[in-house]
Amino acid sequence: MQLFRYRSADLTFYMKHLFGPVFSRRLGLSQGIDLLPPKTCNYNCIYCEINRAPQLSCERREHVPTSEIIAEIDTLLANKERVRKIDVFTITASGEPTLHTGLGRVINHIKEKTDKPVAILTNGSQLYLEEVRRDLQAADIVIPSLDAARAESFRKVNRPAKCSSDLETIIAGIVQFSNEFSGDLWLEILLVENINDADEDIEALKKAIAEIKPKRVQLNTVARPPFETFAKPLTRRRLEEVRAAIAEVYTGPVDILAGSKEAEDIDLSKEKVDTSEKISLERVESEIIEMVLRRPCTAAEIAGTLNLEAEDALEILVDMESRGDLLAKIHGDKMYFRAAKEHID
Ligand code: SF4
Repeated sequence: MQLFRYRSADLTFYMKHLFGPVFSRRLGLSQGIDLLPPKTCNYNCIYCEINRAPQLSCERREHVPTSEIIAEIDTLLANKERVRKIDVFTITASGEPTLHTGLGRVINHIKEKTDKPVAILTNGSQLYLEEVRRDLQAADIVIPSLDAARAESFRKVNRPAKCSSDLETIIAGIVQFSNEFSGDLWLEILLVENINDADEDIEALKKAIAEIKPKRVQLNTVARPPFETFAKPLTRRRLEEVRAAIAEVYTGPVDILAGSKEAEDIDLSKEKVDTSEKISLERVESEIIEMVLRRPCTAAEIAGTLNLEAEDALEILVDMESRGDLLAKIHGDKMYFRAAKEHID
């Protein structure tokens, strides 16, 4: 069986709830923690990177055992060399992490065991709930999304479940959390052409930003192949216009994330671990499927995350695509790989 050089045996890739680490320009080397079964969410965003139909839910519960997630974190923490390299633990989900009632326990556990910062990516829809705000208090960075501040655009871009709250309640929840939270709140706004980028949308968002008073605003657009092919990205020029419009009411930093140097452009060589351990091709392929089930990835991202040589990664990906395990898709100026239907249960 063909073998490849790979990182050490105790990598998080072999775990069910931990993934990466992956480079993120905004967060650095980020160790992902996934709290939910695939796409358990109260939204069904048109731009979602997870290529599967959502399991719509507004129910806060222990969707997977918290003890199982914590056990995996402890396994990772035991590898001190590995943890030393991580810049941040990022709690996200193949869905909405605040739907998991163990969220607070997981954050507190990481904070008790390490001095690394903890960031949470959330769609912001549940911050009106007192228990969710309480769960998030121990985090260092919370990044809620607010893609629209007009009800019509909100419905079009986020397609909330019937059980989800109305937009007014959601924005009020983000404002309240911002007032209470002592860490950093960064507001992410993802704009889709002709869906939530009209001038009246930007005006409404400016009003919401002025109320929320985030530490920074992060503008994004459809940077990877979206769930709905009709979701199109904004041009860089339009994003710059939106940034200028926001600056009329907001003096903090406004970052444009799309088109920024993401994982594929960053030199990962300094993170490569010199190990003689070799693992089977079968195992590498199953890690690739896990990665692309979470979101479409470029060959360079896969090579960087799995510590493969670029040529090896490309060879494996092309082979997997020819066997029908992966689908290749050009989006913008990059080729992305995503899982074929048979891998999506
Ligand atoms: S983008 Fe996030 S909030 Fe929207 S459907 Fe996907 S997982 Fe849910």
